[in-house]
Amino acid sequence: MAVQTSFDFAASPAGAGQRAPGPLGDPEHETGRSRSVLERRLGELMARPISLTLTDNERTMISARRRGDVEHVRLHHMFVEADEPVVRALAAFLRDGDRLASQHLEHYVGQRRDRIRTRPRRKAALSGNGSHHDLAKVFDYLNARYFDDGVDAEIGWGRHGRAPGKRRRRRSIKLGSYRQSDATIRVHPVLDAAWVPEFFVEYVVYHEMLHHVIGIPVEDGKRRMHTAEFRRRERGYARYEEATSWERDNLERLLSS
Ligand SMILES: [Zn+2]
Repeated sequence: MAVQTSFDFAASPAGAGQRAPGPLGDPEHETGRSRSVLERRLGELMARPISLTLTDNERTMISARRRGDVEHVRLHHMFVEADEPVVRALAAFLRDGDRLASQHLEHYVGQRRDRIRTRPRRKAALSGNGSHHDLAKVFDYLNARYFDDGVDAEIGWGRHGRAPGKRRRRRSIKLGSYRQSDATIRVHPVLDAAWVPEFFVEYVVYHEMLHHVIGIPVEDGKRRMHTAEFRRRERGYARYEEATSWERDNLERLLSS
């Protein structure tokens, strides 16, 4: 069983112009607590083997997933300088989602928001932050959980393709797209709605991230987007069944949104 815990922190737009120092921070804040020291201490406190990866994520500061006996923990690199009380809070949060620990960590992260690198967006017009779903957050979560943070693509909402008032039912709808030339994922804006569950947006983004990862294989001289291998990996999304059945149940509504 995979236990998923995550702690997200949305960097404030005010910090957007600031560039954080290198991945391991600047020397004056570096207390020398190395990754392996932190890994060992967390393991002691949680009484289980830990595999620790430091990230330079923009949103997901803390995430963990159990595989077998080993807890695979991913922490923003700002945590290498965490003192004992913060490391204890991390352990308590990871162990049982302790609320007090969560507040402590939120405070810790808030004080170091200048360490969070805000990725330069290749296209300023591309906005991932909708009114109901935050695509950058969804992307970061999926990237950490399924792709070892290896997907380097842009993401944003597509445009509404029709004038307001012309709300005729569509014949079909493309919920997501991936363009290889500039590694850009777009998500149809009909999904930015309160009635669309986050797991469905995740499913659409996951699908497009797979296109980025797999590329477009050529079979028998034809470019094939959805190969058997693609479909197999698509089912690796944890809520695949739920997402595909939600899509079947709500297709009418999506077509007429
Ligand atoms: Zn596709």
